[in-house]
Amino acid sequence: MGISRRNFFYGTAASAAMVISASGARASTCAMPTKERQAALSPQGVVDELMAGNQRFVSGTMVNCDLNAQVMETATGQYPIAAVVGCIDSRVPPEMVFDQNIGDIFSARIAGNFVNTDILGSLEFACRVAGAKAIVVLGHTSCGAVKGAIDQVKLGNLTEMLARIEPAVQAAGPVAERSSKNTDFVQKVADANVALTVEAIKAQSEVLAGMVAAGELVIVGAMHDVATGQITLIS
Ligand SMILES: [Zn+2]
Repeated sequence: MGISRRNFFYGTAASAAMVISASGARASTCAMPTKERQAALSPQGVVDELMAGNQRFVSGTMVNCDLNAQVMETATGQYPIAAVVGCIDSRVPPEMVFDQNIGDIFSARIAGNFVNTDILGSLEFACRVAGAKAIVVLGHTSCGAVKGAIDQVKLGNLTEMLARIEPAVQAAGPVAERSSKNTDFVQKVADANVALTVEAIKAQSEVLAGMVAAGELVIVGAMHDVATGQITLIS
């Protein structure tokens, strides 16, 4: 029984907890995501907690909670603190790279981490209805969707999906070599895509823009480096 990856490391949880307490990142390492915890955090506090989680991930000091216990304790309700709009890329699972657990975050994943009506509706549920206080638009380096958009790949439904990233290709500026082999340009487009997605959420959702204006929500852009696991806030 149990979830082997977590349980295997469970014996190190106590020492990891001490390290994290010392840094002030998270007072109670495997605290259940309760209504009280959700209410006590400020929007910026949520961002700080996620970034602290990424530092644990990068440094190999993840908090290894008993996920089975968390399943049982969250069975009657959820009080997540954040929503992440991330790519489907197998190297960037939000719960893992932010070192979060069952019930902590909403995760909306789509190749190229952009938003459409369905994802905006999901974010409105996550924040306005379920109480999440931060939205992180999480791009990543070496993104295949960004590369496909740059190369204008044509394949089934992918053709229309990649067209959603074209505004970021244009925003990244004129380029002599529009090619996924141009790694600098690939990163510029990935950065622009995150920034445009942050702006799109505010522009296309009155609900979420209203929460930002009221100080109830922050929306930030971030970039995950697939070579290091490090996440950097970029907008
Ligand atoms: Zn990607």
